[in-house]
Order: sequence, then structure tokens, then C-alpha cells
Amino acid sequence: MNAFYESLMQRLGAIKLIANFTDREMEALLNFKRISKVELDIDGQKYQAWRVLHNEALGPGKGGIRFHPDVVEDEVKSLALVMSLKNSLAGLPYGGGKGGVAIDIKGMDLKLVEKVSRAYAAAFSDVIGQDKDIPAPDLYTNPQIMGWMLDEFEKKVGHHEPGVITGKPLALGGIAQRTDATAKGGFFMIQSLMQQLELRTSGLKIAVQGFGNAGSFIAKMLYEAGHKVVAVTDSKGGIYDENGLDIPALIAKKAGGQTLSQVGVGQIIDNQAILKMEVDILLLAALENQITAKNVSEVKAKAIVELANGPISADADKALFEKGVLVVPDVAANAGGVTVSYFEWSQNRTGNILDPEYLEKKLKDMMQSTWQRMYGVYEEHGKKVDLRTCAYLLAMRRILEAEKARGNI
Ligand code: NAD
Repeated sequence: MNAFYESLMQRLGAIKLIANFTDREMEALLNFKRISKVELDIDGQKYQAWRVLHNEALGPGKGGIRFHPDVVEDEVKSLALVMSLKNSLAGLPYGGGKGGVAIDIKGMDLKLVEKVSRAYAAAFSDVIGQDKDIPAPDLYTNPQIMGWMLDEFEKKVGHHEPGVITGKPLALGGIAQRTDATAKGGFFMIQSLMQQLELRTSGLKIAVQGFGNAGSFIAKMLYEAGHKVVAVTDSKGGIYDENGLDIPALIAKKAGGQTLSQVGVGQIIDNQAILKMEVDILLLAALENQITAKNVSEVKAKAIVELANGPISADADKALFEKGVLVVPDVAANAGGVTVSYFEWSQNRTGNILDPEYLEKKLKDMMQSTWQRMYGVYEEHGKKVDLRTCAYLLAMRRILEAEKARGNI
């Protein structure tokens, strides 16, 4: 069992007791609707590929496709289950799905990447669809890959169906707001957190682990809101300045090909140091399993926001809760991405292009509503369970309500 799957099962097991879910209800929540696996044969080279649909009580499956050499079935399954929870919590009309190919595409010829992408879409064309299961980009997949997949899928089924996949290029019905959607959603959630805890609305000390799509955009939004982003890291380490870093300048230097530790600003720090900093908010926007039983005792942040999926292990969750560190869980904090994907899918379905200002407001309202509902459950439980438990509880209840309304339970 991989570590992420193990943490997820531990967490869901604990919630069964808190929520008094019956065995039948837990069975419905843990059951996978469909696990499809194929071996892609690309020029004689074989790659394992999966598409998993976890639950579809609320609507078609929704979740990304990752291309990574370490992809295994348990990982795709746990990510699909997490997508069911995330989509349910956000109030979206979706179940949870996920896909993956065990492949290393770093440095791979683009023609070959295109072949893999097309082979994937063709192999799973009978299980994906705008009303069945809707993929999107994830680790090492991008809008161009979604474009190839859409094209191959449409050739296979013989009609246009842009809503089969989100995160597409704009020319194929993608949406401009997708680029910084995860960061923007996270930013709205942090605003709710600040309001709830009556924190200063500017001048907070913030550290950001991961300076890619999610991390760099949110660092910029926080910088522009007047906060002090004192530390940022990427895969090669990072930098610290107690007076705050100039984030737009760092983004420009990164775009020029430098790593953060090469830009010659502030004090150089390693990847562990950022996790131990005394800051108001630590943002995790890189990888899974960053805070575990091994390093949790050294965490000094007052609050942690998970933009990455699964950056804190289940045993570290417990320790953080006991220390009084408030953790805003991934299923809530990084839902901005899938929410904007939902806007894209809605536009594709109706052919109606929605006003960007309306969409921005809708994203803000949806993120704030998630925060309020999650925090409401936290208060109902006398703040004796963590926010992740509250988020999972809400998500699981909504799925069960749909299962019951369908007469499945
Ligand atoms: P990305 O590839 O654009 O950026 C990842 C960043 O993390 C890079 O800057 C990389 O250098 C850095 N990094 C890698 N290892 C690191 C380490 N050990 N310490 C510090 N930094 C490290 O990826 P992204 O799209 O920004 O995604 C980041 C996380 O957010 C992932 O867990 C992803 O699943 C999650 N997420 C992203 C989106 C989205 O829309 N981009 C949506 C939901 C969740």
C-alpha cells in the first residue's frame, strides 16, 4: 500500500467513528465504481495506464491524468477518492476520477509524448466522456496534452465533445481563468482564514514551499496584498529574507531559467528549513508527504495551508492538531482549480461564454462558502477535531445523501 493510500484509509477510518457512519455507508463511500487498466504499446515500449472512477452519485467523474514513473494503481485510486471528496465539498455536480500513466516524459521527444497521449485517449474512450468521467491536467500533463487527447477522443467517437476534458488550450474551448485558478482559490480561502482568526489583513509573515504554478501565483497575490513573503523554495532549495522577498522579481528571474537559490537575493535555505520557520502561515505548494512524523515536532508555523495534494501525513496531522497548528486541508484549499474546470465544462456544454467578472465572483463565493461550512462543523465539534476531518465529514455526507436519494443505500 503506498503512503498516501495508507494515510487516507487511516483518516476515513477515524471519521467513521466520529460521524457514526454505518458499515453500509462506509462500504458505499469506499467502493470504486470502475478501475480500468491498459498497457499502452508505444513503438514496442510498454507503459501501464489507468483511469479510475471512484464514485458517481453526484455526477460524472472528474479528476486529472498524471504522467509519472512512480504511478501505481493504489495512488490513482486514492487520488480518485480524494477527488470525490474535493468535488463534493466544493458543491460541484461531480463524482471523483483520476488517471495516470507510469512513464517519465522529462526530456522525451514531443512526438512521442503526443503518441502516448493519443494512445491513452483512444484506450479509455469508452469510459471517459462529458457525462461519464472528465479528465484534466495533473503532474507532468498540460493543456497541449489535453488538446491531443480531445482530438483523439473526438476522432474515436465521431462527434465533437469539448466537455470531455478540461484544462484544454483556449483554441479548443479552454478557459483563460484556469492558469492561476488554484492559487486564486487558495488566496480567497486564506482571506477567509484571516477574517475568521481576526489576523492582520496585511503584513503577515508567510513562507511558500514550491514555486511552480500554484506556489508562485499565490506568493504574488499575497505579496500584492501587502504580506511579507519571507521564504520561498523550489526543488533545489530556496531563499529567506525577514523583511520580505520581492516576489514579482523572483518570478521574472525564474522565468529566465534561474533556480531560487541562484538569484542572489536573501539567505539561501534548504528544503527542510522552510518547514521549520516561525511564520504566521506556511503554504505547502510542492509535493506530497512533506510534513510527517519525522519532522512535525519542528514545525513552528501558526497555520498551514495545503495547496499541494497530500503534503501532510495522517500521523503528522494529529501532532499538528495537538500543537494548535490550524491546517487548511487540500480538499478545501486547492479546490479553485477544479472549480474553474467546472466553469470550463459548463461553458462547453452550453456554448455560452460567461463574463470573467462573474466567474471571479463565483469562485470567491464558492471558496468562502466551503470555508464557512467547514469552519461551522469545526465549531459544532467544539474545535476538538481538525479541519480536515470537518471537510471530509461534509464531503462524505453529501455523497451519502446522493446515494440515498438514488435509492442505493
Ligand atoms: P508545478 O510543477 O508547477 O510546481 C511544483 C513546484 O514545486 C516547482 O517549483 C518545484 O521546483 C517545486 N518543488 C519540487 N520539489 C520540491 C521540494 N522538495 N521542496 C520545495 N519545492 C519543491 O506544480 P503545481 O501545478 O504548482 O502543483 C503543486 C502542487 O499543487 C501539486 O501537489 C499539485 O497536485 C497541487 N495542485 C495543483 C493544482 C494546479 O492547478 N496547478 C491544482 C490542485 C492541486
